[in-house]
Amino acid sequence: MTDQRIHNFNAGPAALPLTVLEEIQSSFLNFAQSGMSITEISHRSSYFDNVINGAVARAKRLLKLDERFHVLFLQGGASLQFAMIPMNFLSEDDTADYVNTGTWSTKAIKEAQILKKNHRVVASSEDKDFSYIPTNISFSKDAKYVHLTSNNTIKGTQYNKFPDTNGVPIVCDMSSDIFSRPLDMEKFGMIYAGAQKNLGPSGTCMVILRQDMLDTANENLPSMLKYSTFASKNSMYNTPPCFGIYTIDLVLKWIEEEMGGLEKMEEYNIQKADLLYDFIDSGSFYRTTAEKFSRSLMNVTFRLPSEELEKQFVAEATKKGFGGLKGHRSVGGCRASIYNAATMESIHALIQFMESFEKENK
Ligand SMILES: *Cc1c(COP(=O)(O)O)cnc(C)c1O
Repeated sequence: MTDQRIHNFNAGPAALPLTVLEEIQSSFLNFAQSGMSITEISHRSSYFDNVINGAVARAKRLLKLDERFHVLFLQGGASLQFAMIPMNFLSEDDTADYVNTGTWSTKAIKEAQILKKNHRVVASSEDKDFSYIPTNISFSKDAKYVHLTSNNTIKGTQYNKFPDTNGVPIVCDMSSDIFSRPLDMEKFGMIYAGAQKNLGPSGTCMVILRQDMLDTANENLPSMLKYSTFASKNSMYNTPPCFGIYTIDLVLKWIEEEMGGLEKMEEYNIQKADLLYDFIDSGSFYRTTAEKFSRSLMNVTFRLPSEELEKQFVAEATKKGFGGLKGHRSVGGCRASIYNAATMESIHALIQFMESFEKENK
């Protein structure tokens, strides 16, 4: 079976570690000697308590979170967070700073607009087609939060260092790079991520939220749109996405126990990305679209000499067992998404394919 699996460079839903998939498969019919699969177990049972508490504890250990932080699981994807953030954190007199680094930041800003909340776009890289991460930004001193997108999945850029925001908490969309590297959590009031890039299946959104953000949050909201509802009920006010949380627990276990934690995870991700970027930089047939100092370790976006060649490249790659290399439909080109679970073996195989494609089509 496993020799039929492709080299999966999908942007999301994306590749998961093989050992995680194998564990799901082998325990699927009889989870933890319960006589049931994980999809058939009550979320009010001790079986599921162990799963969700395990996932929360692993997230806390990996990111070295202190007791101020809540680890929550919500539904509605990262996209619902774009609205929940201004709803929960901005009262009438509050304002927030947003940095616009691409499609997802733009969507986050749009929700603040729809909700008519005070906000300021303090920097944007739209002037150069979102090919870089803005620096030397002057943030407001009185903002409630600064919203950033740490990794721009579509344009292939990433903050390699988070900016100094004068102590204003950063609220960060980390959908495509959460748990790919260690973080200095002092800077963050909240981080969130749709699971389907680096964590598990779609349908779950992980939210890591600091207590002081909750303390001043709006309470006059529908229950399902308030963070306090989830924080006070260990994410189980209603039925949570059980299978997603279970898979996330296994992925976090894989990072902890097989990869050796976030420092090691980052080293591995740097090695993989360097290999691919170095190969692309070594010739002129392929070229990356992001500026060098802003390039993402997770999404390598690149172009070929013509759109025709790009089409042919993706088609031949697919035939040879490489998936997901087509760029996002809004930008074209090619993209190799190399999240945590992408293996060095897959990167080597891709480079080999790219070399031979170049030789045949130069
Ligand atoms: C994929 C993605 C989203 C959207 O996530 P959904 O879970 O589909 O809502 C948001 N932000 C970033 C950075 C993404 O990569």
